Amino acid sequence: MDRHLSISVYAFFRGYHHKMCCLPSSAPTGRVNSFASALMALAGLFFGFQTPALAKEVVIGVFAYQGEQVATSDWSPMLNYLNAALPSDQFQLASFDAQGLRAAIAQHHVDLVITNPGYYVAMEYEFGLSRIATLATHQALSTSKAIGSAVIVRADRHDMKELSDLAGKRMAAVAPQAFGGYLVVAREMLHQGVDPESDLTEVRFMGLPMTNIFAAVQSGAVDAGIVRACLLEQLNPQGALKRSDFKVLSPRHEPGFACALSTPLYPDWPIAVTRTTDRTLAKRVAQALLNMPETPSGLSWSVPTDYQTVHDLYRELRIEPYAYLRESTPKALLLRFWPWLLGLALLLVAWGIHTVRVEQLVQRRTAQLRDSLDAREAAEARMRDHQEQMEHLSRLSILGELSGNLAHEINQPLTTIGNYARSVLRRQADGRLTPEAVQEACNEINNEAERAGGIVRRIRHFARKRSAVRESTQVPQLAQEARRLILGMLRHPPTITIDDQSLPQAQVMADGPQIQQVLLNLIKNAIDAGRDLPLERQAILLRLETTDNRLLVQVIDQGCGLSEANLSRLFEPFFTTKPDGLGLGLPICKTIIEAHGGRLWAELNQPGPGMRFLFTLPSHVTTA
Ligand code: ADP
Repeated sequence: MDRHLSISVYAFFRGYHHKMCCLPSSAPTGRVNSFASALMALAGLFFGFQTPALAKEVVIGVFAYQGEQVATSDWSPMLNYLNAALPSDQFQLASFDAQGLRAAIAQHHVDLVITNPGYYVAMEYEFGLSRIATLATHQALSTSKAIGSAVIVRADRHDMKELSDLAGKRMAAVAPQAFGGYLVVAREMLHQGVDPESDLTEVRFMGLPMTNIFAAVQSGAVDAGIVRACLLEQLNPQGALKRSDFKVLSPRHEPGFACALSTPLYPDWPIAVTRTTDRTLAKRVAQALLNMPETPSGLSWSVPTDYQTVHDLYRELRIEPYAYLRESTPKALLLRFWPWLLGLALLLVAWGIHTVRVEQLVQRRTAQLRDSLDAREAAEARMRDHQEQMEHLSRLSILGELSGNLAHEINQPLTTIGNYARSVLRRQADGRLTPEAVQEACNEINNEAERAGGIVRRIRHFARKRSAVRESTQVPQLAQEARRLILGMLRHPPTITIDDQSLPQAQVMADGPQIQQVLLNLIKNAIDAGRDLPLERQAILLRLETTDNRLLVQVIDQGCGLSEANLSRLFEPFFTTKPDGLGLGLPICKTIIEAHGGRLWAELNQPGPGMRFLFTLPSHVTTA
């Protein structure tokens, strides 16, 4: 009982309160209904009779753009239906102008809101309005294509055909915030390059009814006017304002839509609940409205439609809830460009991650490369060491083979020296020692000592351990030295002829001892090939010539030669036909020559007999 009373008394005050925000022209419907409820509750309290359980009051706030009376008559059939369909709720209508409706929602004075799509979208975010159904009318193509506007001018204005012709003209509209009465046209004007806020001489906001706008256009007070679609078609053909007096700018054809239009069609009015509306009530009302039979004026409710096109309109015009798009504060710019900024930030993050990754990869690869270079350098150094050792061994091996008679060779000058020394002593004992004899003996001793020293020096020089050095080298000189070394070491050396055709000014950058080693190796092999053959076949010819920036050296013998099979294996390591051979001489010679940028190969000495070993070295002719 008490609860019913309190609800009704509260409803009374709420209804009364509506007056503040309702259109001032007349008392709000809600107030009368609340007052009746309160009276009934009071009667029950005082007279002690049990009233039937009082229904819970539900206030439907309506945007009454044509005034309260029209709103009441328009929405009464729906109100009656809801009260009948949901007897546990007592529905009341409260009419408001745009501002009043906003205030009523803000103060939680309404449970349900019926307004045009523009205000709905404007308040959707601010008050958490949520549509539960969209109006369906016969006139509309569908719930999402219902509201449009026509821009009218006098039929005799031949200078105006398109919305773009409005630049510099005067235009009448309902109000700056009126959806069909201004905004939908403003958007189309922008599309046609006319800014309604700056490109028109005047925009005259004349409020409702829209007949004022027709009159203003007809009288020439303004050049054009914005009216709701289909209003033009409803003009009385006999009235003061006739259809034929006006024409529509930028007429659009929407198939199935009977009225003239200058704009696209937008969704119809929604009915919405607020953030505080009871959810079960919202569900009950939505179900009831979807089942509501068509009213005599042709209204019914359908499932809520999509209001995205209305959002797009507000965004393009940059008005609430997109008014921030006009501001240039950091916050507004952030709100406006956040998708771009977010994209940019993501791009930067991705780029940063990519850069860091690439940097890490580069560092890792660089370290790997450095390690492998170090390893390669170490391997190369080891290889160089081994090569040097091999070359040294090879030199010692050549000496070993050639020095069979070394003792004998050195012994000869020593014997001569000894003989001269003894002869001097004998002459002295005999008293026959003349100064001339002493001088002759000393000269001979000196010569023989020089000869023995020369042999030892050359051998030591050849046999010493050393690292390779590249310098300007005279290969003919090296050939002479090699010849001398061999002749000095062998008891019965063969004839070694040097035929030097090379240009004296041809320079070779080479390691002298290494090239000499090659020459000695080839000469030694040639001597081996002629061993035990008649003397004339033991002769060896060294030919040097200059060809195309190359020095060509040939070591030609007339020895035993080689079979085809052995010829192909000549440069294989450890290939040897000698009982005490190592088979390393030729591979080492080949490595040395190729390391100098040259080539070493062998041919049969045509027409024979014997072999011909050839090698080239890069050379350049100096002009100086
Ligand atoms: P080694 O002299 O220790 O055998 P080499 O590599 O210097 O090693 O020579 C390999 C082989 O090539 C020799 O055993 C020999 O059969 C052959 N050879 C080299 N030079 C000649 C040559 N001038 N005439 C014939 N055969 C040769």
